[in-house]
Order: sequence, then C-alpha cells, then structure tokens
Amino acid sequence: MIRILLKSIANRRVFPKRSIATLTALPDTYQMLFKTCRDFAEQELKPNAAKYDREHLYPEEAIKKMGELGLMAIATPEELGGSGLDYLAYAIALEEISRGCASAGVIMSVNNSLYLGPLLYCGTDKQKAEFVTPFCMGDSVGCFALSEPGNGSDAGAASTTAKDAGDKWVINGTKCWITNGYESKATIIFATTDKSMKHKGISAFIVPKPIKGLELGKKEDKLGIRGSSTCSLIFEDCSIPKENILGQPGMGFKIAMMTLDAGRIGIASQALGIAQASLDVAVDYASKRIAFGKPIIKLQAIQNKIADIAVKLESARLLTWRAAWLKDNKQPFTKEAAMAKLAASEVATFASHQCIQVLGGMGYVTDMPAERHYRDARITEIYEGTSEIQRLVIGLQVVKEYGL
Ligand SMILES: Cc1cc2nc3c(=O)[nH]c(=O)nc-3n(C[C@H](O)[C@H](O)[C@H](O)COP(=O)(O)OP(=O)(O)OC[C@H]3O[C@@H](n4cnc5c(N)ncnc54)[C@H](O)[C@@H]3O)c2cc1C
Repeated sequence: MIRILLKSIANRRVFPKRSIATLTALPDTYQMLFKTCRDFAEQELKPNAAKYDREHLYPEEAIKKMGELGLMAIATPEELGGSGLDYLAYAIALEEISRGCASAGVIMSVNNSLYLGPLLYCGTDKQKAEFVTPFCMGDSVGCFALSEPGNGSDAGAASTTAKDAGDKWVINGTKCWITNGYESKATIIFATTDKSMKHKGISAFIVPKPIKGLELGKKEDKLGIRGSSTCSLIFEDCSIPKENILGQPGMGFKIAMMTLDAGRIGIASQALGIAQASLDVAVDYASKRIAFGKPIIKLQAIQNKIADIAVKLESARLLTWRAAWLKDNKQPFTKEAAMAKLAASEVATFASHQCIQVLGGMGYVTDMPAERHYRDARITEIYEGTSEIQRLVIGLQVVKEYGL
C-alpha cells in the first residue's frame, strides 16, 4: 500500500477528464492507485505490448516492477507481504494494466485471484508463509490448474488423481491450458481423491515447481495474450508432502468455484482494459483522419460507434465494480461476478471490432494496436468460464431468486 502511494505521488501527472470523472466518487486511495497504474501502463507496458505479442515474450521486467508497486498481491494482507487493499482496488488497477497490455493483465490476474486467492481462503499459516509471501513481489508467480484435455466447462469431471500414499500424495494426470504454466514457481492443482464421490471427491493441492514427476507441455501458439504462457502440466507419479493439501479432502470443487467467482472480477477488469484501449485508439484516430474535408470524428456514423462503445463500457464497469464491492463487503457475489464477466468480455469483443472499423484499413494491420486488441479480447469470453457458462450461472441464480 505504502509502496503504491509513494510511487503515485512521485509520478503525479495530468490525466484525461473521463477517467477522473468515473473515479471522483471514490476515496483518494483508489484515485492514486488508478493514477499510478495508468502512469505505469503508459510508460512501461503500452510501448512494449506489441513486442511481447509479436515475440511471445513474457514481460518479466514489467511483472517484477508491478510486484514492486504492490500489484501482484493487491488484496493480500500486508502482514503476508501484499498491499492490503480490496477487490475494488484490484479491479481498478487490473483494468489500467490491461489497457496497457492484456498479457500483463492476465499474468497479474492469475497470480492475484487464481493462485493467491485460494491460499488466502483456506491455506494454513505454514502454507501461507511458504506459498503466499514469496509470490507477492513479481519475481515468483503462481498458476491454477483445473482444466483437463477431457473437461473444461465440466470441471467436476476431473480425471487427474491424487493417491494417499502414507506420508505423501501421488499425483497422476494432465492439466491443460495453464496460464503462467512456464514461469510459475507453484501451482494450485485439483485432483480426485475419491472417484466414487464425483465432484465431491475432488481435492485441492499446492505443488511447488519444478518438481520430479511434473513435465511441461509445449507452449501454446495463441490468437491473443501472446505475452503470457499457456501450457499443459503433465503429472506422472509426482509426490508431494501430505501437508500440501489445501483445505480438507473433498473441498476442492468448492474451492475452485469460489476462486473462479473472484477470478471473474479480474477477467472482467482485464476485458474493460481492452475495451477502453480500443475506445482510446478509435477516438484518437478518428480525430486525426480526414475524409471528405473533415476529421471523421465529426461524422455521426463514427460518433454512433463511439457512443455505443461508451455506453456498454460504462455499464460493464459499473457491474464489475458492484461485484467487487459485494465481495469486499462479504455479500454473495456469484451472480454479479458472472454478469460482470459476461458484459465486460462482450464489450471487449464489440469495442475492438468497432475500433477496427473506425480505423478502416489501418485497423487491419499490425502498425496499429487495434488488431491486437481484437485478438486479445476474444479470450475473455472463453477462460474462467465461457459466456455460455456465465449465462448458465446467472440464469440459475435468477431462477433461485424467484424461489423456483
Ligand atoms: C489462453 C487460455 C488460458 C487458460 N488458462 C487457464 C488456467 O490458467 N487454468 C485452467 O484451469 N484453465 C485455463 N484455461 C481453460 C479454460 O478455462 C477453458 O478453455 C474453458 O473453461 C472452456 O473449456 P473447454 O475449452 O474445455 O471447452 P468446453 O467445455 O469443451 O466447451 C466447448 C463449448 O461448449 C460450450 N458448453 C460446454 N458446456 C456447456 C453447458 N453446460 N451449457 C452451454 N454451453 C456449454 C462452451 O461454452 C463452449 O462454447 C485457459 C484457456 C485458454 C484458451
């Protein structure tokens, strides 16, 4: 926290009126955090994002600096090495980081909500000392291994097993699509300890990396977020100490679902950042591009696109902040987090699509960031629950509210 505020004051600059207007109702802490993240994204991420994308480059230095700013463990208590802020702060910071670089955004999101989140929720003091504190500064990141080749949306059908072998657990199976899979120094993994119990037989474990019996698959060649690594984790008789179970046996599915509820606030924020970046590019280009004797931003057809993006973006931002506020105030937020992720990921796709249209031919080439935003946006509708799964979650909750 102190790290963030000091840096923010040192870097105080003038920012676009819009961003400040959205934040003015919030306490100073959030505004300072916002300014720090915007400065950092402008100076360190935006100029390098195309290179990370083109070269599939993990932004190692940037992630370390984000760790120094306290961004890799925003909602982790200060006594454990985090910034001691809340999820609203996390949402604001992650949007700004993703506005600069969506790959840095997902790396930050996975470490904060998918890795540290479950450890904070049910880790023992010893587990927190070993697996939380060293992961707050950006030099070590964690990952979260739930998906398998045979099941993604249907996470309860996990076929990876963890066998009780006296003083250790022995893990066998393959996890796939794991973000931060290459760089991470530890993973939270979900494996079945009792197949007969179906999803109630799944348990969560902490696996340090590298470790004997764990191989990494090939780095996936992705459409977007190419600065973050994605790979399979292949477990073959991988032994971990008995004490590395997270929570109680059979609690794994519940831990995974609770983690994803919070994670969706993160992905919604990442999507907002991509949408905002698209709007910024569209407005900037349209104000300079002359057609039929005037800047195209004067054309109503272009202003209509800008209006449509702005309305969807502000709506999704409010949904995201509401979900974060509910979580921070210890109220149920499953439905709201799903709504936020659904709305924000769809606006990221919409805004980046419209941005390309505003830029015409220039939108279609890598000289401009519009095509990267378009590619980056797509994943936000897939990971941490597809849009179809978000609709399923929302639908079930709404029906429940009717007492049915
Ligand atoms: C770049 C990337 C990074 C990822 N990072 C991680 C990570 O760090 N950790 C991790 O564990 N996973 C990760 N994932 C996996 C991701 O969460 C899954 O891809 C996602 O949940 C969808 O699962 P699936 O790919 O198996 O698709 P499937 O579950 O096979 O779905 C295929 C299609 O069927 C639809 N569908 C499935 N079931 C239903 C239903 N009941 N109702 C309506 N429609 C349905 C889906 O919406 C989708 O359109 C990542 C994936 C990608 C691509």
